[in-house]
Amino acid sequence: MSIITLASHSSLQILHGAKKEGFQTEIVVDKKRQSFYKRFPFIDKFHVYSNEDEAVSLINNIQDSIFIPHGSLIEYIGMERVSKIRIPIFGNRSLFPWESNQEKKMKLLELSKIKTPTRFSDPEEVDRTVIVKLPGAKGGKGYFVARSKGEVKDGIRRLLDKGMVNDQREIIIQEYVIGIPMYFQFFYSPIFRRVELTGIDIRYETNIDGLKRLPSWISQEPSFVVAGNIPAVARESLLPAVFDYAESFVATTREVVPPGIIGPFCLESIVTENLDVIVFEFSGRIVAGTNLYIDGSPYSWLYWDEPMSVGRRISREIKLAKENNRTSEVTT
Ligand code: ATP
Repeated sequence: MSIITLASHSSLQILHGAKKEGFQTEIVVDKKRQSFYKRFPFIDKFHVYSNEDEAVSLINNIQDSIFIPHGSLIEYIGMERVSKIRIPIFGNRSLFPWESNQEKKMKLLELSKIKTPTRFSDPEEVDRTVIVKLPGAKGGKGYFVARSKGEVKDGIRRLLDKGMVNDQREIIIQEYVIGIPMYFQFFYSPIFRRVELTGIDIRYETNIDGLKRLPSWISQEPSFVVAGNIPAVARESLLPAVFDYAESFVATTREVVPPGIIGPFCLESIVTENLDVIVFEFSGRIVAGTNLYIDGSPYSWLYWDEPMSVGRRISREIKLAKENNRTSEVTT
């Protein structure tokens, strides 16, 4: 059996882990990027595409394999094409449409009784500092912070003028929560029926993370473009609360989007000075912040006394499922 993924995001980690678990590894790669991926000896087979339709037909022609989705899949290939992938996918494919709709996404968090920032559906309602976001995982491009409804309206007008959005309704306006970001990376294992904490990261974003280097008299508007990730550990007393969130989230997805979350997910949070964890977003798949931990994280060592990246953890789950005739519990 082979493990296959789309070249980008966390594909190196996924295939490196698959190889460690004894699988054949295959990558579907844009022809412009193949020379980069050819540098890595753990990738056994290359399927090179020139356009996104071709990518999907290549994926569908790979026999006896499981496809691993990651955070860039829908951004690169598009929701419609992803729905045409016919080979088994690790995880719950019914979650994809939920993930790409901000309303539905926040609803899943709220149904899980997870604290989330106040949302404003109309700029007119804005009564505090807010962050204005664009839809989809665009790596924070175009986001802005506004202190009043006037600033929100001006900012939205600029985005419409630049063609970055087509309709005001696409835009998300959230209360700007003051605190520090922490992205809690989890893994739900149907095989062990447990939630594992696989790591924590912080996105390293330009220019907001550079602004603190400037003296306060030089002011500059913050932007939130992700350029990398920084590792973090949380004080241990925060962990029971985030585990409660994670377990409740798994239970909600099982009820609302059966069979629920399978494998990696991430609760993207701000921790306030009262140590409240406010979740502003979730990812239902492997996040790029897990690339920090190819050799395992401080948390993965608590479950596995061996180096265990999330990429490898996915393949371990598939391997155990296969050995126990339970593959249908980890794929859809
Ligand atoms: P992606 O969706 O691409 O994975 P992301 O998960 O990092 O991005 P975004 O929602 O795009 O999350 O947020 C980008 C940045 O904005 C991060 O620095 C995050 O900490 C900050 N941020 C997002 N929402 C809020 C909020 N409600 N309050 C304070 N900061 C926020």
